[in-house]
Amino acid sequence: MTTPSSIQDFQVVIVGAGPAGATASLFLSDQGISHAIVDKAQFPRDKVDGNLFGNKVLDTLGEVRQGAVRQQLEASPHFLRCGGGLRMVSPKGSSFGLSWAGGNTGLGSEVFTMARLHFDQVLVDNLESPYATVHLGSAVTQLQQNEQGIELTVDTAEGPQRWRSQYILGADGEKSIVRRALSSQPSRPMDDQANTLHAYYSGVLEDRDHPYSAAYLISNQKRSFVYVVPLADGTHKVGFISTPDNKGTALETLLDDALSSHPALSKRFANAQRIGDVGIWPASHNRPALDNVSGDRFLLLGDAGSLLVPQIGFGTGNAVLSGKLAAETISAAIAVNRYDAEFLDRYNEALRSSIQTSIQSGIWFKRMASYPKVMTWFVEQTRIRQGFKFLFGRKGDTGLKWI
Ligand SMILES: Cc1cc2nc3c(=O)[nH]c(=O)nc-3n(C[C@H](O)[C@H](O)[C@H](O)COP(=O)(O)OP(=O)(O)OC[C@H]3O[C@@H](n4cnc5c(N)ncnc54)[C@H](O)[C@@H]3O)c2cc1C
Repeated sequence: MTTPSSIQDFQVVIVGAGPAGATASLFLSDQGISHAIVDKAQFPRDKVDGNLFGNKVLDTLGEVRQGAVRQQLEASPHFLRCGGGLRMVSPKGSSFGLSWAGGNTGLGSEVFTMARLHFDQVLVDNLESPYATVHLGSAVTQLQQNEQGIELTVDTAEGPQRWRSQYILGADGEKSIVRRALSSQPSRPMDDQANTLHAYYSGVLEDRDHPYSAAYLISNQKRSFVYVVPLADGTHKVGFISTPDNKGTALETLLDDALSSHPALSKRFANAQRIGDVGIWPASHNRPALDNVSGDRFLLLGDAGSLLVPQIGFGTGNAVLSGKLAAETISAAIAVNRYDAEFLDRYNEALRSSIQTSIQSGIWFKRMASYPKVMTWFVEQTRIRQGFKFLFGRKGDTGLKWI
């Protein structure tokens, strides 16, 4: 085994080049702040994901590179604009639509779909800058804080390297090594987790009444639903989200049962074919941890900071927004030579005021989804829904709107 040689110094190191890390890098480059960004994966790479994105993503990315990244996304042949909202379908087939337009939930009137394989690649293609050193295919394996900064061991193709950085942005996803090494964010109870299964399908019939993404509730399965997301090439991304009790093949069998027996799904999937393998992924649709996303010399971004909307599972909007807010925080900290948790806590504050509503909507949905019979009943009760429409419409600040 090769031992790491002399130490390389950086002002900022971003761990992870997914949506959160790549966005932070783009904002730092725009501000002329030199940094390194490292990802263990070689790109292009796909990610288990519903492939559904909201306004927050385009709005935030519209602010970097003078709008060039947003333009490239919108011009991509893989980009499909697909209406504002999500249709919830009960196990009996009746349905209603929810729009988050104008709210702060990460969705909105400009919802689009794109496979993560392509979406992440557009971001990574834009990382090149005089201020960014990009290391793909290199994994951070250790982090340690001392008085000079944070030391990292990075496994590269040439062997292990030792780096030292004044600031670390942990954007390394759900199993974040940065979170585990530096933060006190607690691990999650099983109850806060979900098991998910993903696959691509061809030959799925479009729902002509509601030609956009839909979530299908499964009868008697607590916190379980199938979602179907149309993609630009005519295929569909299908996901099944369930509780941790349903694992592996059980999850696959439940999905197959749902596709053949649910009244609305069975019509749409009568002649559908699965393309490739299924992907299974444990997702923590956990409680938000907005109090533990920063500390001395580090910030946690996106899934590494548990910023995923619980149960609903949207996280890319919050990930890119956290990338922007993290870059702003680091820029302010560098300007006044501050590295301490007290100063960096402004990142927590900024996050709290911008993503709290989206997290709340997930908590609300999770509570409902824990009672499948109540949820089904609710979806089927037009009058009750009208009442909620009235209430949410009057309040206007929940971010929820019935469509
Ligand atoms: C089943 C499922 C469905 C979802 N559907 C949607 C959806 O439809 N819409 C939506 O908005 N969100 C969805 N999400 C959430 C979304 O996938 C995440 O919130 C989003 O990917 C978070 O981005 P990120 O950059 O924080 O993390 P990631 O996208 O996970 O990126 C982290 C990066 O860090 C790298 N990395 C990890 N460890 C290391 C290391 N030690 N060293 C170097 N690099 C490392 C990884 O290779 C990866 O590239 C879904 C999630 C799941 C699980």
